[in-house]
Amino acid sequence: LSFPNPAPCLQDKSSQVPRYVRINTLKTCVDDVIEFFKRQGYTYLGKAVSVEEMKALSGKKFMLDLHLPELLVFPSQTDLHDNLLYTSGHIILQDKASCLPAFLLGPVAGSHVIDACAAPGNKTSHLAAILKNKGQIFAFDVDPKRVATMNTLLTRAGVTGCQLVQQDFLTVDPRDRKYSRVTHILLDPSCSGSGMVTRGPGEEAAPSAERLQALAGFQHRVLSHALSFPALQCLVYSTCSLHQEENEDVVQAVLQEWGSAFRLVTAFPSWPCRGLAAFSGAESCLRASPAETLTHGFFVAVLERCREGAAAPR
Ligand code: SAM
Repeated sequence: LSFPNPAPCLQDKSSQVPRYVRINTLKTCVDDVIEFFKRQGYTYLGKAVSVEEMKALSGKKFMLDLHLPELLVFPSQTDLHDNLLYTSGHIILQDKASCLPAFLLGPVAGSHVIDACAAPGNKTSHLAAILKNKGQIFAFDVDPKRVATMNTLLTRAGVTGCQLVQQDFLTVDPRDRKYSRVTHILLDPSCSGSGMVTRGPGEEAAPSAERLQALAGFQHRVLSHALSFPALQCLVYSTCSLHQEENEDVVQAVLQEWGSAFRLVTAFPSWPCRGLAAFSGAESCLRASPAETLTHGFFVAVLERCREGAAAPR
């Protein structure tokens, strides 16, 4: 079972969300990118000290993000799609919330990592940058067109050491020796997309109860499957959905199923917006929103293995 691209929920909150630029450290560094933009007539204001400061950005001004070290913040209307740095893969145009999963997974260089639902590959290229292209990424996606797009994106970003496979992740055998050293998994499955903010006018399009149930069922299965990789130490689960059914409820049900084998780790303790109080400990998860964090709506949970030799799910 697979789901195609997330259906966007069309809310015109775009003016609240700045243009975020992730610096691709596989090709360049923060200082060089800042200098490049200064030469293009932009004014650099230094590192942001508050969300309000980022909200107030206007004109050709930019700053370094408040939370993430390799992320620049520009006013919302800034279009950099034709910029040389973008077309050459030196920068990635990626929302701040979408940079959280790879950042929080944080595998050390040399690690073996799975990106289970990977296309179009922004988080995979972020993982590769964190790994400094050292180690091994196994990236899966079920959709052939999205895999093709991802191939182009990864090549442009200078990613090496990534096996990109067009396959339903649910059919990947966790006992295959190929994956015996996989210690980290990033799981960003298809979701309702209800947190996505469009950059044009639109209207709300809420997913039906049936669609939410089907998505949550898939997310549950795919999360449980990911936890069955024998050497797994840390997993990040993320969605761009606002619905508790796809977020806290999925995490709670899968944690219950796995008994004491995995636990939630507090994701980004200083992040202001936490998981909904759906169960005890849900505040370990984080949420993001245009109003509170100046990002698209997003959810992240970080799971860690409690002990060696975890039992199979109940
Ligand atoms: N992580 C991606 C990124 O940052 O660019 C975005 C992933 S998108 C939210 C979800 C992806 O999951 C889609 O590309 C979809 O094709 C893929 N997908 C859906 N069902 C799948 C399955 N059973 N196995 C692998 N991939 C799947």
